[in-house]
Formats: sequence, structure tokens, C-alpha cells
Amino acid sequence: MTEMIYLDYNASQPLLREAKTAMTEAFDLVGNGSSVHGAGRLVRSAIEKAREQVATTVGAKPQDVIFTSGGTEANNLALTPSLFKKPLQSGAQLFVSAIEHPAVLNGMRFNQEQINIIPVTKAGVVDVQKLKAALEEIRSRLAVDEGQEESLAVLVSVMAANNETGIVQPLREIADIVHEMGGLVHSDCVQALGKMPISIDELGVDLMSVSAHKIGGPQGVGALILKDSSVVLRDPLIAGGGQELKRRGGTENVIGIVGFGAAAQTINEDHFDKLVEITTLRDKLEAGILEISPEAVIFGKGQARLGNCCCFAVEGFSAETLVIQMDLNGVAVSSGSACSSGKVEQSLVLKAMAVPESLGRGALRISLGVETSVQEIDRFIEVWEMLYQRQKRGGMATDDKKTSRAKYVTI
Ligand code: PLP
Repeated sequence: MTEMIYLDYNASQPLLREAKTAMTEAFDLVGNGSSVHGAGRLVRSAIEKAREQVATTVGAKPQDVIFTSGGTEANNLALTPSLFKKPLQSGAQLFVSAIEHPAVLNGMRFNQEQINIIPVTKAGVVDVQKLKAALEEIRSRLAVDEGQEESLAVLVSVMAANNETGIVQPLREIADIVHEMGGLVHSDCVQALGKMPISIDELGVDLMSVSAHKIGGPQGVGALILKDSSVVLRDPLIAGGGQELKRRGGTENVIGIVGFGAAAQTINEDHFDKLVEITTLRDKLEAGILEISPEAVIFGKGQARLGNCCCFAVEGFSAETLVIQMDLNGVAVSSGSACSSGKVEQSLVLKAMAVPESLGRGALRISLGVETSVQEIDRFIEVWEMLYQRQKRGGMATDDKKTSRAKYVTI
């Protein structure tokens, strides 16, 4: 069997050698990080080293990093109405953008009547003016006086960069508007971390979610990072032995946390030069796609976008069929469409961008990473040309029922 060409880094990045080495060493640790004896203290110091490494990637303080079981849990932990000191009479309101990961889009611990969806423009960018108008409407309804302690009990959650298109969001602008009204801002930075420089201060957010496996750490570990101690989490998702400063109970996943720290350390070192190389490869990939199929639409091209990501579609193609055909040719990519009960539907992200369904159903997401080589990109282009020509000749099954497999969503 030919070697697999992995172009699905946004779903999960392969474990980095640095993370694997650190985790292997951590297997020799004995004891519980909460124990006061020497063995326990060694575990504690491994956890705290990782906490510092993760904090450094975004310029946060180590005590503001809460380790979780991943990005999903971090998002769940963040999206809670009890973040506010004194919710106003109508209760706290949550605003989430229409292109969020399901771990945010569903509003988590907010009730349905508290959840508001912020639309995005056709360019896939959060409509800041619509958000501002909605917040002003709430403010005038509640007649909140400036300087009043409780301000607006509003939490706004907008991702830093989208997982399907890579389109970067105007977080700083959003944060300034929300803060001016006294609200809080959470950002799902799961895809952005490691793919663009991130500083919690510069983004201006109060809480951010990150995940180890998107940066070459292990799966099943992540963190919610707070701007500072002014953000108080009163309602832990998992209460128990008081770990993580009473914000997330349970004996820590030491091996996972150590691997996360080691992967984070690679970002703290020479990582960003590699991003330039990755972007060059991505641009080569897109030039190849457009040469073969000039009618292809590349979502977000020409805009602020993660340099590792290309989401494109050709009218009338079936993404599900393409993903399977790519796989049969040894290339692992994702579709930008969601498939449920055998019926391929357009992804919510592309739908929110008003992409016609006939185009969106064919969307593929190619995501590159630190190990991607020029030969792999050349091979992708070769396979794309073959599949494209076959489809144009009418030889590839486009009936999704013929090729339908398990239910999946783009992650
Ligand atoms: N948020 C975004 C934007 C993602 O792409 C993912 C990945 O699946 C998650 C959250 C969930 O993170 P995790 O897999 O660590 O739970």
C-alpha cells in the first residue's frame, strides 16, 4: 500500500516527536499531583511546567490556565451564565457567531431563549455592525446606566479562525465593542493556536479555549485560559477534589498535560518560520487546483485566512464522493459538508456564508501542517486532476446514496 498523504491537520495534527518524548518520560512519574510527598511533588512540577508552556503560547499567566479534556470541554466550561456577578432582570444573554463549532453554537449552559446567533457576511466574517446593533438594542431595553456595576450581562463567543475555511475573525474589534458595554468575550481559539500568532491581551478576549491535538499534542486534553483573575468561574462543569484552583475537579491527566506542554513549547520556539513555508505550499496547492479546474471557488481567498487551510468547491461535485475517492488514492482530506442519515447537506459554515447548496455540497477542506512536503502537494494535485477529469467525463458516482458511509461532521 502506498503511504498515506495526510492533509487533514485541522481535524487532528499528528503527534509531534517532542510531545511523544515528553509523554514517554512522564510515564515514569509515580503518584498524585495533589500529594505532598516527593513523588507527588514531581508530578505537580511536571503539570506546572506544562501550564507555563501553554500559558506562554498566548501570553497568559500560568494560574489562568485551566486544563480540561479538550477544546469541547473548555467551550462548555466557558459558556455559562454564572460568569456574571449579577445577571440583570431578563437574565444573561449569549451571542455566538453562525460559524462556530457545535461546542459553542448550541449555547451549552445557556437556555434557548438566552442564545442569539450573530450572522456572518458572504465573506465568512462576523457581521460586527449587526452584533453592535443587537447589543445596543439590549442596552436601551434594559436602560443600563454607564458605570453601573452589573453593566450588560452579555457573553459574546466568536472563534479566532474558522475550522472549515480558516477565515480569521475581527476579534479585537468585537472585544472593544463588547467591553465598552460591560460584557465578556470568549473565543474558541482551537484552530487558530499554532496557525497564527495569538496573544490573549492583543485579541482582547476574557476567556479562550485551546486544544492539544490541534497543535501536535495528544488528543483528549485542552485548556480554558482566562485573561486574569477578574474572570471568575463560579460554576465548574466537573466539581470534585478542588483541582485546577476549584475550577475543574478530578486528578489531572498528567501524561496528556505534559504532551500538551511539550507541543506548546514548539510554538514558543521557532514555529512561526514554519508557517511561512506551510503558506507557500498552500498557495501552490491552490494554484494547482485553479489551473486544473478554473471554475473552482476557494472560500476566503484574498482575505485574512489561516495559511495552512484551503476550502474549495466545484459546482455540482459531491464532497462525500470526493473524500472517498481521495482516500482510495491514499490522500486524507475532509469535506466541508455535513452528512447525516446518508443525506449530504451543506455545512452550516458555508450555509451561513450564503454559499449555494449546489456548490457547497462539493466543498473539500485541505489542511496542511509542519510535516507536509512539496511532493505531497504535487500528489494531491495529480489525484485532483484525475478525479476532476473523471467527474467531467461523467464517470464518478455523484449519487450520495451509492457511496454513503457513516454519519460525520467537519471537525
Ligand atoms: N473548536 C473548534 C473550532 C474545533 O475545530 C474543534 C475540533 O474538533 C473543537 C473546538 C473541539 O476540540 P476537541 O477536539 O479538543 O474537543
